[in-house]
Amino acid sequence: MKKRKILIIIIIAFLIGFFIRDGCEGKKEAYKTGTIQKSNQWWTCSMHPQIRQPKMGKCPICFMDLIPAEQETISASTNAITFTEEALKLMEVETSLVERKYVEAQIKMVGKIDYDEARVKYISSWVPGRIDRLYVDFTGIEVTKGDHMVYLYSPNLISAQAELLQSVAAKNDLKSESSDFLTSSIESTLKAAREKLRLLGLTTQQIEEVEKTGKPTDHITIYAPIGGIVIEKNINQGAYVETGTKIYTIADLSEVWVKLDAYESDLIWLRYGQKVEFTTEAFPAESFEGVISFISPVLDPQTRTIKLRVNVKNTDGKLKPGMFVHAIVKTNVAASGNVMDANMANKWICPMHPSVVKDSFNQCDICGMDLVKTETLGYVSEKKHEHIPLVIPASAPLITGKRAVVYVRLPDPNKPTFEGREVVLGPRAGNYYIVQKGLNEGEIVVTNGNFKIDSALQIQAKPSMMSPKGEEKPMPAGHQH
Ligand SMILES: [Zn+2]
Ligand SMILES: [Zn+2]
Repeated sequence: MKKRKILIIIIIAFLIGFFIRDGCEGKKEAYKTGTIQKSNQWWTCSMHPQIRQPKMGKCPICFMDLIPAEQETISASTNAITFTEEALKLMEVETSLVERKYVEAQIKMVGKIDYDEARVKYISSWVPGRIDRLYVDFTGIEVTKGDHMVYLYSPNLISAQAELLQSVAAKNDLKSESSDFLTSSIESTLKAAREKLRLLGLTTQQIEEVEKTGKPTDHITIYAPIGGIVIEKNINQGAYVETGTKIYTIADLSEVWVKLDAYESDLIWLRYGQKVEFTTEAFPAESFEGVISFISPVLDPQTRTIKLRVNVKNTDGKLKPGMFVHAIVKTNVAASGNVMDANMANKWICPMHPSVVKDSFNQCDICGMDLVKTETLGYVSEKKHEHIPLVIPASAPLITGKRAVVYVRLPDPNKPTFEGREVVLGPRAGNYYIVQKGLNEGEIVVTNGNFKIDSALQIQAKPSMMSPKGEEKPMPAGHQH
């Protein structure tokens, strides 16, 4: 539509030009344009270079708009081409500056909510016995830390308690004139007896109770070690259990994991400690966030993806294990494959707890480990110039297999001249490519119409993206920019 409009305008312009010329010989400008149009410029099809016509129009083979090819303006340079301003407009050539700036890459991933493995606890029997009572009948029930869970009968407890009661009696029999040796040996026997009962699963209060009443118990109560949801009930009331038999599994859901799959090609922008935003199907309008706490060192050979783990606070309990999530990481791309994150630049972080980030060297509040500099994890500081990457719009390079060619507008304002240049690209980040070699800051590259310029070069048998050596004038060996 736009193209047709421009065509009509140009046709009208030419018609006016001819009328003016006919009417008034003094209009040199219009006269000159008309002459060039007639004598020098010919038109061809970018798909069918054998088509050569003196006028603009459509290709008789494929009906594409013909593109201008000007023989007279062939540049001396082997891989440069000059166009008239009119031709540029027809080809809809647009350009953009090669600049140094941080560009944003958005990495999209899918995954699932899972339990935080560090927050899953098992309730198991520490003594062989019989389960006389299970206080939680169903999975999914929420319990708080210290709730009674199991009432277990175990004859093994009797002998251990008998030892305890003997030690207590011996201590009570001690007289002031008893030797220090006797006193300390009775004390240590008592301590050992208490410890044994503790290892069998009795709490300090339960042991004190036995000592006070002098009555051994053949039942113990097992309490919830953490608050959370009972996610598994592994055994039924009345069953006999051995030492270590799993009875319940409790998961604390106040913090959960999100397990994500990242593509191999996105790995370069992902970092331990990075913020991840995600949405769930259950709460589509709500955005949740967490922090990358683990990036698997191993690639899944089947899916070609890498597992990522994100720690997420779930105080309101909305996130439930098994939920699907759509996640996004927005990252500022720095030169040489680094990441610029203003929140992480020049900071210190715990290698185990990515939520612990400090301004200076310190120890982790949670685990006491020494914090490490974020720079060692691939973050860079904002200020240093060498970290700012050289970028071009993603539409600028023409990429075939291993080669990438951009068309650079040479700095001559009078004659629009474009030079094809092979560049070495770094990774793509959003709508940009990082340039590693071949371009300088401040140069101007073609972002639209580059295919047409490439075709025009091909037609003139010059080196183009499609035929890097040209046809008649091969580039000198070792020629580089
Ligand atoms: Zn054609
Ligand atoms: Zn820590």
